[in-house]
Amino acid sequence: MIRLVAGNWKMNGSLVANRVLLDQLEASPGVEVAVCVPYPYLAQLQQRPGGLALGAQDVSEYAAGAYTGEVSASMLAEFGCRYVIVGHSERRALFGEQDVTVGRKARAALAAGVVPIVCVGETLAERDAGRVMAVIGRQLAAVLEVLGVAAMASVVLAYEPVWAIGSGSSASAEQVAEVHGGIRAWLVAHGVEAESVRILYGGSVKPGNAREIFAVADVDGGLIGGASLVAVDFMAICGAA
Ligand code: PEP
Repeated sequence: MIRLVAGNWKMNGSLVANRVLLDQLEASPGVEVAVCVPYPYLAQLQQRPGGLALGAQDVSEYAAGAYTGEVSASMLAEFGCRYVIVGHSERRALFGEQDVTVGRKARAALAAGVVPIVCVGETLAERDAGRVMAVIGRQLAAVLEVLGVAAMASVVLAYEPVWAIGSGSSASAEQVAEVHGGIRAWLVAHGVEAESVRILYGGSVKPGNAREIFAVADVDGGLIGGASLVAVDFMAICGAA
């Protein structure tokens, strides 16, 4: 399957800064590259380098109606979004997003033809307590419960250990291998066509560690935060995928 490297700009950018960044981005041969940008910039990103896919960072679980402040998946589709991140740990931790809500958001995205990038991952306390796959299994089960087995094969998963995000040091290759293998096995055990699910790694991926991480079995790409805002770094990471 073709690898995916998705940049998560988080709440960063400006019209001017985005244009400078975009002018330095280009498609990367053999790998799908996407940028997930704040909602107001979806219009600006209609003009972007060829071959660069567009994504958002959140979506409403609802299709339309009296939900002030929400943005629907069909709106994202109208702006050409191929992807939307759901269940990022920042949304879970800072905005109280529950496992079941993540599942409903993934369902809303798929219904509009937008592929959800479903983030899962444990905190450091959960890792220290030996609960990594228990936590991830719970997060995945909530999404599977909403989507069902067939649709579950259409999502992209991102393993993002909370303790590695923005910390400057990624999980080790051994840790990544163990969890990605565990996720693939979990999917198989639950009847999901696991081989068609891309499992991205996210958490302090940089040009200096990207090649090692992308060489790990069951890593099908990356979700890149901070480094996606620096064109030369993001392009180097895409080149390593
Ligand atoms: C992220 O927030 O999805 C992420 C992976 O961040 P960073 O690369 O900055 O750790």
